[in-house]
Amino acid sequence: NFTNRGYGARSYGSSRRGVRGNFVPPIKSNGGNVGSMTSRIGGKGDDELNDSTRTCLEMLCGPDGELPEKLRNLEPRLIEQVSNEIMDRDPNVRWSDIAGLEHAKKCVVEMVIWPLLRPDIFRGCRSPGKGLLLFGPPGTGKTMIGKAIAGEAKATFFYISASSLTSKWIGEGEKLVRALFGVASCRQPAVIFVDEIDSLLSQRKSEGEHESSRRLKTQFLIEMEGFDSGSEQILLIGATNRPQELDEAARRRLTKRLYIPLPSSEARAWIVRNLLEKDGLLKLSEEDIVSICKLTEGYSGSDMKNLVKDATMGPLREALEHGIEITKLKKEDMRPVTLQDFENALQEVRPSVSLSELGIYDKWNKQFGSLA
Ligand code: ADP
Repeated sequence: NFTNRGYGARSYGSSRRGVRGNFVPPIKSNGGNVGSMTSRIGGKGDDELNDSTRTCLEMLCGPDGELPEKLRNLEPRLIEQVSNEIMDRDPNVRWSDIAGLEHAKKCVVEMVIWPLLRPDIFRGCRSPGKGLLLFGPPGTGKTMIGKAIAGEAKATFFYISASSLTSKWIGEGEKLVRALFGVASCRQPAVIFVDEIDSLLSQRKSEGEHESSRRLKTQFLIEMEGFDSGSEQILLIGATNRPQELDEAARRRLTKRLYIPLPSSEARAWIVRNLLEKDGLLKLSEEDIVSICKLTEGYSGSDMKNLVKDATMGPLREALEHGIEITKLKKEDMRPVTLQDFENALQEVRPSVSLSELGIYDKWNKQFGSLA
């Protein structure tokens, strides 16, 4: 029964209780106490919080049972949304899941992982930038890198798509951004991954820029400035397919800018092998794999995944065509996946990135990217 113990306006801040577990008899505090506590939880009294919001706030309380300063003036509802929808408790991606991208991985280890693991060494001259930009065509592993960073550095991972700030959280974007950075600062080390960051920090709108998106952008830059100058262990990663749309202010804050290109032939081979092997379906010869790589020039990592998916449907479709009922189908009834399955799948799964787009990335990389 949460109303009788732990987190809540009535007992919040009282020296008699601890949020985590200590039973607190339901004695009302005096009026003055209630007033100050109410303001601390974003204007909501304990009675107005539902159980899930209360549980979520409890988890953010420090060992002293107090809600951290940064969260006290935020709306509990938004704190809960950040915790439930944006915070990823188990990013579940390791470096070894990512094909290729050796240069990017090396930079990230040095710039991000080591400083997060050893903040004591990475200070002064060695202090790392707090903003990283991953740019390149869609489906090349930018989100995977973000998740892997969080996993490897044992950091909390927050994922938000910048376009959802205006579409999903209409009119609440600014408040949500504050809540996001607030919760992140209580969950350090933290990685905040902002997908499609161009839609938030774009230079395009500066003329007739919508008032609300301008405010959102300002709020975002203020929050970034806040942790950039401090000793907080928060890393902001922006990802974009349209780096050319970022303005100067965005570039200044995203000090390291890594090009995440389409996968090389070796990386494509690795993806095919890895995905099939995981499911125990790898029966292709090395020659077959080389052929697949030759046929998939220009395919992104995500295209390759879709291709493998489609190819593995080949044996299944064939078995069903031979009259086996899906409910009676045994795994042994299906032949291995062949090169022909991949050739058929290539008709269905086309590359999603056009060659002309690649020129833009190369050019931007030469001008603004962190080259090897
Ligand atoms: P992005 O963020 O660059 O748009 P994602 O990281 O979301 O792309 O990748 C989408 C999916 O494509 C991944 O879940 C993964 O299955 C596959 N993929 C993309 N790039 C790679 C890669 N380098 N190695 C392994 N899988 C990849």
